[in-house]
Amino acid sequence: MLEGNYQVHRFCHAKVTLLCLFVTAIILLGTIGAGKFGTQEQHFNNLRSNFYSSRKRAESHKVVVESTEKNNSSDSNIQNDNANSYALFDINKLLVDEGEDEENPGSDNPYSLGPKISDWDQKRAKWLSENPNFLNLVGPNKLRVLLVTGSSPQPCENRIGDHYLLKSIKNKIDYCRLHGIDIFYNMALLDAEMTGFWAKLPLIRKLLVSQPEIEMLWWMDSDAMFTDMAFEVPWEKYKDHNLVMHGWKEMVYDQKNWIGLNTGSFFIRNCQWSLDLLDAWAPMGPKGKIRDEAGELLAKELKGRPVFEADDQSAMVYLLATEREKWGDKVYLENAYYLHGYWGILVDRYEEMIEKYHPGLGDHRWPLVTHFVGCKPCGKSGDYPVERCLKQMDRAFNFGDDQILDFYGFAHKSLASWRVKRIRNETSNPL
Ligand code: UDP
Ligand code: MN
Repeated sequence: MLEGNYQVHRFCHAKVTLLCLFVTAIILLGTIGAGKFGTQEQHFNNLRSNFYSSRKRAESHKVVVESTEKNNSSDSNIQNDNANSYALFDINKLLVDEGEDEENPGSDNPYSLGPKISDWDQKRAKWLSENPNFLNLVGPNKLRVLLVTGSSPQPCENRIGDHYLLKSIKNKIDYCRLHGIDIFYNMALLDAEMTGFWAKLPLIRKLLVSQPEIEMLWWMDSDAMFTDMAFEVPWEKYKDHNLVMHGWKEMVYDQKNWIGLNTGSFFIRNCQWSLDLLDAWAPMGPKGKIRDEAGELLAKELKGRPVFEADDQSAMVYLLATEREKWGDKVYLENAYYLHGYWGILVDRYEEMIEKYHPGLGDHRWPLVTHFVGCKPCGKSGDYPVERCLKQMDRAFNFGDDQILDFYGFAHKSLASWRVKRIRNETSNPL
């Protein structure tokens, strides 16, 4: 019965369609002027060209532009082409920079990250009790974590750098989505004196005090990528600690080695202790004389450190090594998995890892993070050959991305390739 009705409907539709076509043909014939054309074939050809010309209207603009251009002189032709060319456009025309960054004015005015806050724990506890919609726990034993990363407000100093920043943030978005972690990308220089690797300090402070619901903030450099999408951080392990960095106790406290810990990927708890630590960490940061002189001190005091301006990592090693009693208890130096993993010792082993192990381990078998220390993909030059850096950044990205693509039945053709291949047959029953 249903099928019969459907047939009738279809028949009616066919009749209406034919009628419409007929009427359209008559109207078009009238417009074109049937008298000018003799044969039936000519009529048909004409109808067809009229029909197609309406579909090609989108291209007509191009035709007009092209024909106008042909009439113009070749000079203005080139000018037009240049004005429309992204390749030839000088981006500096748009990078308006109002005012210079200032150096810290005078030593009698010591640098600070902001007005001293001393009762944050009480303030935050009160705020949390008054704002029950903003919980610092998102589930039983699951902290509210905010992953924070960022890059300079200006485009990278080389053409390809911004593409790698995009890959890097895509990689972090994927990890955070899978693990219920919020993410914040900063491109604003909040404090003109704290440029480069020091920019994270004022930013972290600002975020902690502006979002009391965040229990743990995870800073991650833009040149670090997740290579284990399945590894879940053992948050419970850090319940008595406020700062978690990848590192080794003896290298930091005994050797004062400048690479005893890494500040490219770490957790910091939202509490008074952390605000105090940031205050103690910051004084070597202001760019110019202060940072340069502090760099000399750090090169003298720390093991293996070359002479260059003070960096946040050396300053942290120095702070912990010189004031261990004050901070040591609440600092966890993690090395059971790669919260930060130096790329140089990991990237050539990805194939071996794929062959022998599986995601979720986080350590040397399948590192949570691969960090391209010293590559400076957004800068003018780095400490390693550019070709090796970019090639290995692609491999790290693809290594992590394969774990995402796997959900959808795809994988990169190889770790070196941006192309993907199907690894499962499509099915009409995807769930
Ligand atoms: N950074 C930033 N704003 C800036 C410059 C840098 O937030 O204006 C961040 C960026 O995420 C970068 C990090 O600071 O990854 C540290 O610098 P880098 O990774 O170049 O140092 P490295 O790890 O090589 O020592
Ligand atoms: Mn880095």
